[in-house]
Amino acid sequence: MIKFVGAGPGDVDLITIKGRQALEEADIIIYAGSLVSKAHLDFCKEDADIYNSASMTLEEVIDVMENGEKEGKDIVRLHTGDPTIYGAIREQIDELDRLGIEYEVIPGVSSFTAACASIRREFTLPDVSQTVILTRIEGRTPVPEGEDIEDLAKHRASMAIFLSVQEIDRVIEKLAKGYGSYDIPVAVVYKASWEDEEIIIGTLQDIGKKVKEKNINKMAQILVGNFIQGDYERSKLYDPSFTHKFRSGK
Ligand code: SAH
Repeated sequence: MIKFVGAGPGDVDLITIKGRQALEEADIIIYAGSLVSKAHLDFCKEDADIYNSASMTLEEVIDVMENGEKEGKDIVRLHTGDPTIYGAIREQIDELDRLGIEYEVIPGVSSFTAACASIRREFTLPDVSQTVILTRIEGRTPVPEGEDIEDLAKHRASMAIFLSVQEIDRVIEKLAKGYGSYDIPVAVVYKASWEDEEIIIGTLQDIGKKVKEKNINKMAQILVGNFIQGDYERSKLYDPSFTHKFRSGK
């Protein structure tokens, strides 16, 4: 049995209880070494076999899984954040299906919610945005037509942009074109929930300069939208004049 586990964004206690248990019981752990905190490995059995997938190909990862499965071992594939977002788990899942190996996916705290928690904000404010767009700029991996950051920005939804801080200038240009303005709040959160986390707040006008001053070029979320700063309507849910199923009002 293979368990794909979300390790969370960094802080070792931001893994789910189910994910931690899977780690404690595993005979083999394959972890995404470039982003997953090594502190998670302290919870593994002493004699567990540990592989860092940073230096492995998909084929090598599948080989470890297949051989382990043949020996009846419990295997954890530990991914950063939530495995279902830029986790490249689908290509592993399809191979496991082909080989007839069972697996389960255990979700995790994604870095986009961790980053929003770090700046102590809420993505979804009434009247501001009720939609969150998760995206990235195209790199070696292309982005399908219609999903360019400029097009997405036109929706004025709250945005969390992954895998893109190394291209902050291009991101800013696309956002400014989509919004038709540079006066849009942006927060860049580097290593959300890690001890060396950095938060940079600005607008499309000045965020590029601020990010470069701090030399941030990897492992950051770019959060964009008026949810970061500005006015909003209070929620109907907690409005005394609004009744709902759990509070009938007087
Ligand atoms: N599955 C992961 C994303 C993997 S893609 C998740 O759910 O978070 C890797 C990208 O995620 C990085 O380039 C960065 O944009 C973002 N990321 C991962 N961990 C982060 C963290 N602790 N703080 C900020 N961004 C992070």
